[in-house]
Formats: sequence, structure tokens, C-alpha cells
Amino acid sequence: MRNYDIVVIGGGPAGLAAAKSAYENGCHSVLLIERDTKLGGILNQCIHNGFGLAHFGEELTGPEYAFRAIKELQESAPGVEILLDTFVMEITPDKRIYAMNKKDGYFEITSKAIVLAMGCREKARGALAIPGTRPAGVMTAGLAQHYVNIDGYMVGRKVVILGSGDIGLIMARRMILEGAKVLACIEIAPQPGGLARNITQCLEDYGIPLYLRQTVTAIHGKERLTGITVSEVDEKYTPISGTEREIECDTLLLSCGLIPENELSRKAGLAIDPKTGGPFASESLESSISGIFACGNVLHVHDLADNVTKEAIAAGKAAALYVAGEAVSTSEQALSSPKVFPGKVVKPLENESTNDTSLDADKGVRRMTCIICPRGCQLSVTLEDEPQVTGNSCPRGEAYAITEITHPMRTLTTTIRVRYEDGSIGRISVKTKDEIPKDEIFDYAEKIHHTILSAPILVGDEVLPGVVATSGT
Ligand SMILES: Cc1cc2nc3c(=O)[nH]c(=O)nc-3n(C[C@H](O)[C@H](O)[C@H](O)COP(=O)(O)OP(=O)(O)OC[C@H]3O[C@@H](n4cnc5c(N)ncnc54)[C@H](O)[C@@H]3O)c2cc1C
Ligand code: SF4
Repeated sequence: MRNYDIVVIGGGPAGLAAAKSAYENGCHSVLLIERDTKLGGILNQCIHNGFGLAHFGEELTGPEYAFRAIKELQESAPGVEILLDTFVMEITPDKRIYAMNKKDGYFEITSKAIVLAMGCREKARGALAIPGTRPAGVMTAGLAQHYVNIDGYMVGRKVVILGSGDIGLIMARRMILEGAKVLACIEIAPQPGGLARNITQCLEDYGIPLYLRQTVTAIHGKERLTGITVSEVDEKYTPISGTEREIECDTLLLSCGLIPENELSRKAGLAIDPKTGGPFASESLESSISGIFACGNVLHVHDLADNVTKEAIAAGKAAALYVAGEAVSTSEQALSSPKVFPGKVVKPLENESTNDTSLDADKGVRRMTCIICPRGCQLSVTLEDEPQVTGNSCPRGEAYAITEITHPMRTLTTTIRVRYEDGSIGRISVKTKDEIPKDEIFDYAEKIHHTILSAPILVGDEVLPGVVATSGT
């Protein structure tokens, strides 16, 4: 049997930061267990930018954020042991861990403290109870993201997105860049679920309509999806009879929410907060069982990886103090004073895609969402001799608004094929080195699409003029 002071379960940004923090806070017997063959968690498939502004002080893609977090762990906490390709099957209240992998089979580990960092999963079709047949072509947006960005498979040609969460919005843009048509994004609520910046840069940039207060009420097709029925809903989200319309499509991507991955927590008897779907946690992120801590998406769903990292640093430190006997156990507090997690603020839209970036002729004012950071300030630009920008919370918003009016710029993130020494073809993620004119995005995407690189490629290599690798071979 193996013994450790702290075992961290999950090697995404939460697990990486918790393990590093535990080590830096004096605990040098730390094991990190990850079921995938590499560290990084969900970040590996999130090839878009929008990560790292708070923690690393610059905008990174998901794979770049993962690369840096792994490097930080290796450099600052070299003694942390890592077990990849290993699935944790069960944990017990007395902190025994049962896991399995191909090399060791089924085995037991004991630990003085455990940090849970297993992330979250998407709500699948079963949880949404959409009536109709069960053809191919209906899948969660995150699964499609894995197929397209990691495996290099295109999932369809005529796509509808159900739900306007960030994953769905990001995938709408991704599918367009891979040559598909995205016919609509359908949202049951009166406002979009994702960040305002993603409404702008993923839907509006590509002319994808967003229909609010509507839902999918039937799925059609035998072998493959052939279409869907969409209906308007009332204020109780009940479909309104007589409002049905058909949309012909071969792919329906579901982006209808995330659920913390808590099978292990439930089995161990941790008290689960019905509001967040994660364990109740005290201020020091200790669950209702003494010595078991939780952080990241397993605790509650976070929008930003940077916030996950911050929380995990606190959880790792708390676990190290617990092991050193320096912290009074707060597990009882987990139930008596559960942590309150603030929700995100999204801009309410009235109907369809109304994020109005066009000129309001009467007033000579243009309105737009600042896409520079997740805050998504709502900007107004008065078009007089000198444009006047209001609504920005920092100077970057003013610069963005003026550029957006005169010569809009974007960063393109996508994947590129790589041929390995044995002749097999894989895929790595890339981005444009600098922002490029918005109207050149498809030219760049086309060039990248027709290129096959030769391995090895390192993160940061310039693989084509103006295009750098954001993951390596
Ligand atoms: C599509 C998408 C877009 C996003 N966009 C942004 C963005 O633009 N900017 C931003 O800052 N954030 C973004 N986020 C949020 C951010 O990526 C997540 O909040 C963050 O990655 C969560 O980190 P985590 O470590 O909690 O979970 P994860 O990254 O999911 O890691 C959990 C890990 O635990 C492992 N695991 C689970 N169960 C077990 C088990 N039983 N045994 C062993 N290992 C296990 C999993 O394999 C996984 O590697 C996005 C998220 C998604 C899904
Ligand atoms: S104006 Fe500043 S704070 Fe507001 S979204 Fe833009 S960059 Fe962020």
C-alpha cells in the first residue's frame, strides 16, 4: 500500500495549483492523480484565448495556460509525484483512495488529507429530456470540442447550438472556422448564458442568430439527425403551442450547463450543496469530512481558470496546514456557514441577437461590448470629429472601441495537422502571433487548414508566418 500526506485528485488547473501550493506550504509528500494521459484537464481542448489575464498577466489560450501551470508545478514543487492514466474509483471518509491503471491494476493509497479537483461535466441529452428519435449528430458541445480540437474529426456541416453557455458559443465559432454552417443558437432563458464578450466574438462576428426564449421540442432523423423543431416558451419555460418551426440540420450541439463531477464525493458521504452541485465547503475549502478539501469546478462551476487557480492555491495551503496540525479542522463549519459563490453578470438581451454594434443613426452613437477581458463592459461611442467612448472601466476599452470602428482586429485560434516520425498524423493548437484584421480570419484559417507540419513542434514555435504553436508535439 502507498502512503502520502496529501493526495490531489484531478490534474486540471485546480489540481495543478493545489499540489504546488501544498508542496510550497511545507508538505513534501504529495501525489497528484489524473485519469488522462496528460495534465491540464479541460484546458487542453479549450484552444481559444481568454485565459490567464489575472494569474499570468497576459491573455493565453487554454493549452498555453495548462503548459504554464504544469511548468510552475515542475519548477516550484519538483517533489510532487504524478500518476497519469490512473482513475480514482473510490475515496473513503478515513481517506483511503482506491484507484486503477493499466500498469498496477486496482490498488489502494492512504493519505492524511485529500484535495478533490475532478472538474465538472456537461448535461447530456438524457438530463434535458428532449423528445424525438435518437440519431447520430446530437452531442454535447464539449464532446464536439474534443472531437474537433483534439481528435481532428469534424462533427457536422449544418449545425444548431442549443444553449448559449460559453462552450456552445465558442463551438459555434469553431464550427464556422472549420467550414460548417451554424444556423442558430437557441436559448430558453430571456438572456444568454455565456459572457457578453463571447456573444460578440463568437456569434455576432459570424452573423449567427441568437434566439432567446426558445427551445428544441423535437429531434428528427433515423440514422443521422435531419432536423429539429424549435418552439417559443412562456415565462415558465413551457413551449407555446402553435409557435413550432422546423430547422433542417445534421448536428445539434448541447450547451445547457455543467454539473460538478461529484460521484466520488457522494460515495464518500460528503454533504453536497444542492445549489452548486458541489460539496459544502468552509472558508478554508474543507468539506463536511475533516481533511477532505475541494476546489475548482468540482466545488462549483467557474467561468475563469484564473479563479480556479486562486481557489486551488488556498485549498492546497489549507490541506498542508491540516497535515502539519497547524489548522483547526473547519469541517463542521462547512455545513453551518457554507461559502457563497457569486454568479456572473450577463447583459440582458431583449430578443434574438440584439447586441447592437451598429450605428444608431438618430443619435450618432455606436454601442458594443468590449471583448478585451471577461468583464465585457458595454461601450458607447459618439461619432463626432473625435470619437468619444463611454462605459469603459479602463483605458483598454477606449482603445478597443476606436480600433473596432476603424479597423477591427481579432486573434485567430485553431488547430493544424502535424506528421510524426512514424508517418501518423496528429494535431496541435495554434494562434496568430498578433491580432490580425477581422476580415482576414478566413484567409489565415484556409492557409492553416492546408498545411501539414513535421514534428517535433514546441510551444511558441512560429509554424507559419505570423502563426505560433500553443501546444507542442
Ligand atoms: C469550453 C470551455 C470554455 C472555457 N473558456 C474559458 C475562458 O475563455 N477563460 C477562462 O479563464 N476559463 C474558461 N473556461 C473555464 C476553465 O477552463 C475551467 O473553469 C477550469 O479549467 C476548471 O478547472 P478544474 O481543474 O476544476 O477542472 P478540469 O480542467 O476539468 O480538470 C479536472 C481533471 O480531473 C480529472 N478527473 C476527474 N475525475 C477523475 C478521477 N475519478 N480520477 C482521476 N482524475 C479525474 C479530469 O480528467 C480532469 O483532467 C472554460 C471551460 C470550458 C469547459
Ligand atoms: S473596458 Fe477594460 S475592464 Fe472593461 S471589458 Fe474592456 S478591458 Fe475589461
